[in-house]
Parts: sequence; C-alpha cells; structure tokens
Amino acid sequence: VALNQANLEKVIPATVVKPQYARPGDGRFIDHYMCHMGVGGFHRSHQAVYTDDLLNLAASLEAKNGSPSDVKKWGIVGIGLMPWDSKMYNILKAQDHLYTLLSRGHTGSEARVVGSIVDFMFAPENHQAVIDKLAHVDTRIVSLTMTEKGYCQDVNGDLDRANALVKSDLDGDLAKPSSAIGMIVAALRKRKQEGTPSFTVLSCDNLPENGDKIKHVVLQMAGYVSAELREWVESNTTFPNTMVDRITPMTEVEHIELVARDYMVKDSWPVIAEDFSQWVVEDNFCNGMPEWDKVGALVVKDVKPYEFMKLRLLNGGHSCLSYISVLCGYNYVDDAMANPLISGFIFQFFNEMSPTLLPVPGVDTLTYQKKLVERFGNPYIKDKLTRLAKDGSKKMANTLKEAVIELSEKGLSTKVIALANAAWIRYMVGRMPETGEAILGIKDPAADELRDLAVEALDGVDYGEEPKPERYIEFVFGAEIVELKGFVGEIKDLLRSIVTHGALTTLEDVMAEVA
Ligand code: NAD
Repeated sequence: VALNQANLEKVIPATVVKPQYARPGDGRFIDHYMCHMGVGGFHRSHQAVYTDDLLNLAASLEAKNGSPSDVKKWGIVGIGLMPWDSKMYNILKAQDHLYTLLSRGHTGSEARVVGSIVDFMFAPENHQAVIDKLAHVDTRIVSLTMTEKGYCQDVNGDLDRANALVKSDLDGDLAKPSSAIGMIVAALRKRKQEGTPSFTVLSCDNLPENGDKIKHVVLQMAGYVSAELREWVESNTTFPNTMVDRITPMTEVEHIELVARDYMVKDSWPVIAEDFSQWVVEDNFCNGMPEWDKVGALVVKDVKPYEFMKLRLLNGGHSCLSYISVLCGYNYVDDAMANPLISGFIFQFFNEMSPTLLPVPGVDTLTYQKKLVERFGNPYIKDKLTRLAKDGSKKMANTLKEAVIELSEKGLSTKVIALANAAWIRYMVGRMPETGEAILGIKDPAADELRDLAVEALDGVDYGEEPKPERYIEFVFGAEIVELKGFVGEIKDLLRSIVTHGALTTLEDVMAEVA
C-alpha cells in the first residue's frame, strides 16, 4: 500500500504504529514550527520522532480530558538546501510528508509511521520563500543535522571565507543563500528589520559543543553583513548545545523492500535505526521549546559531560573502529564486532579515552561502554563500515584531538588511538594492503588531499624507508599534534608494521601489548 495520508487512515495494516493525532494536510493543527535543515536519516529517526511522540501525547491527553491539552503542538518544516535534496522533497511530497521508521534490535522490530514533518521546502527552487518561512513569527526554532561539512569551518573553527558556498552567499549579499549559515543569517536579518523576535538555532550534529560552534560561525557571518546585525543576533538568539544519539544507517534498497514485504507499506525512503535513542538538550531556548522532556529527552543546564562521553566514546569509537576493520576485510560493523580482536580493540579504545571524560550525573561509564559494544554489534541494522569511515577529515579531529593532547600531557597511553590513525592513513591510500584491491565507498570532502598525503606518508616504507605521516597529521589535526613526538612516533611504528606484517597482525600485536 502506498504511504500517504488517505491510505494511512484506511488501509495501512494494524501491525504498523501510526500517528494518533488528526493530521489535516494544511498544517492547521500546528501551534509552532521548527524548520529543519538536513532532513536525512538521522533527523527522521530522532528529533522528528520526539516531536511525533509529543503530538501523540497531546492527542491522548485531549482524548482523556475531552478538552484541548496544554501541550503545544509543534510541527516540522524540512528545508532542503543542497541540489540533491530534491529527491527527499519529491518523495516526501508524494507521501504527504509521512515516512516509516523501522527500529530493529535484540528486543524485536517495530515499524512506525511518523507524521511530525508537515511540509518540506526546497531552497534552490525558491530561496526567498525559505527566508520568509524562517523569518515568520510562527517559526520558533531552526534546527540542523547537516553533517560537519555544513558548518563551513576552517581548521581553527572560524567561518571559512574560502568555502565556495560562503563566498557566493557573501558576494550575493545573502539574497539566495546556499549555505545553511547564510540562510540562517538572511532570515535573522529579516527578523531584525521587521521587529520579529529571534528563533533558537538548534544544532543536532555530532560536533563538540555544537551550539557554541554554530553560534561562532553565525555571528561571524552576521558580522560580515554588519556590526549591528551581529550585535542583534548576539543579544537575541540562543544556540543550545545538544547531545544526540541513535545509530541510523543509510537506507538501502533492502530496507525499502523489507518495509514493503514485512509491513505492506510502499515507502520510497523509509528510515532504519537501532532501538535505542537518547537526547540531552541545554535549557537555552529564546523563543519557546517543545516539551520534549515529557517524551524522554533530558533538558539540562550543562550538556558538556554527556556530550564528552558520547562523542569521545561512541563517535570516536565508530571512526576508529571503521578503518582497522575495513583493512581486516570487513564490510559491516556487526561482523567486525563479532571478531573478539575488534571488540577488544574497542574496549581498549574506551579504556584509553576514559581519563579524558567528565563525571556524568547518574551514569556509570563502564555500563555505558558495555551497552555501546552491544549496540555496535546490533546485527539487525547492518550498519556499513564505510558510513562510519566517511568524512574522517572532519570527524577524527572533533572527537580525538583534545583527548590526544590531554593524554599525552599526562603521559597516559595513546597506543590504540595511534593504531586507529595509522589504519586511517593506510585506508586513505584507497587499496587493501595485502591484495591491492580498491577500497570502495571512500567519501570525504578532503578525499583527494588525504589520499595524496597518505601516499606520501607511506612512500618507500616497503623498501625500509621511514613513514612520513607528519603532513597528513598536520592537515587534519593541526601543527600541535605533530609536536606530540610520542604519539607521532607510535603512528609511524604502526604504519611500518601494517605495511610489513599486515593490519590483522598489527592489531593482534597491539592488543597483546595493551591488554
Ligand atoms: P544523511 O546523509 O542521511 O543526511 C544528511 C543531510 O544533510 C542531508 O539532508 C543532506 O542534504 C544535508 N547536507 C549535507 N551537506 C550539507 C550542507 N553542506 N549544507 C546543508 N545541508 C547539507 O546523514 P544522517 O545520517 O542524517 O546524519 C546527519 C548528521 O546527523 C551526521 O553528520 C551527524 O552529525 C548527525 N548524527 C547522525 C547519526 C547517525 O547515526 N546517522 C547519529 C547522531 C548524529
């Protein structure tokens, strides 16, 4: 059965969980809007689901009390900025913005239709319409899950004025912004001009202190427009930090077929995710917040300890696990995790990172680590290692740089992190060490630069020359890390070992040494 509003009410089978609230197509049932940039898999498995839960809660309270509930009804308007977002735009439009979320884990599977996205706008078709929507008084939050690249930062975290999107936005005086930062600033400028209160900018990307990061680049871009705009944004807009968590692999054709076969729903772009979800949000919203705390989100004064733990262990772990696992011949995360050497590598990685974490209220880090190992090993979601390996140039520094500096300063072990980095450098050469077979699916905004630097790092090593990873390390982590002679020395030794003995033997040796 094709997924759309009419079929939802009539023919979609009862085994599929559906919105419990009435959902007229014109969005009239909504009190406030959150506009979201980067409607991919993760937004649809996470923030849209909490928002859907809240709409269900309002409906159940209304049914119980026979009168409207106090719970405000928030709806999401997806915003597509990139040319390829036309695909999501067209699919969601054909499905009345409904989609299926398939949650899978050890406790079973659930298919659920989510209805909290009520509209989708494709910016390249009409930039001004998007600016107007963001600047409208009913829009109270602009949220983002657009991957690290979308923040347009240079290596120091500043707005990268050489970035093509940033340059064209500023050259065109933000009339047709194509970067998310440009679009936000254009809408804030309109709000200032019209005397409309500001919206909250809510980053839900995996960046350390994601709210502070986006604030920094938004203020910089506003400053390039005018000092007054920067000042207005600084005094009127808030940028809460968040910690977001739900492993969401990319949707594959098999998932589309599975939803059709097992649940009889013809959905052109369902989402697959694990059956675990967590969201910690800083209590810092300048224009109202959906009551996500009523549906499982944790709203706190300081997100940092949660975010440290999650980014350093889960995201750092994911990246580090991916390169060595591919070099050992694996394609899927759960298959790699079934090898005790690789699950042991992850435990030792957690051990190494632990001294850099902050105490987290109510959380035992060892229990958290064990749960992560179980989640990484989830065989029902078939997460691909190439997804975890993607965009290392952005992710590795975000999750590892500060930790490596701290561990080195304290004289603590960095061996497992060094192995992960040696494996990453070898991976970026693009060919398997033993067979020379091409590694497929390498994706990184700096893929070409990294490949050249990786080839340079390994040049002549098979003839006994010293590995030269310094320029690679400087490119991704900055010069300070090159100064950490112990860490760089470990990476060199491990590169030599991978070239001479292979990835698996190198992994065995390191595990025997650190265990
Ligand atoms: P995805 O590829 O499914 O979606 C990414 C979205 O960002 C797409 O809509 C894409 O068009 C948009 N985008 C890409 N580059 C952009 C740019 N320069 N400007 C504006 N938009 C841009 O990926 P996803 O799985 O939804 O993950 C997105 C982000 O969410 C991740 O990078 C991460 O920060 C965060 N996240 C993901 C997961 C997960 O398990 N997938 C878990 C936690 C957090």
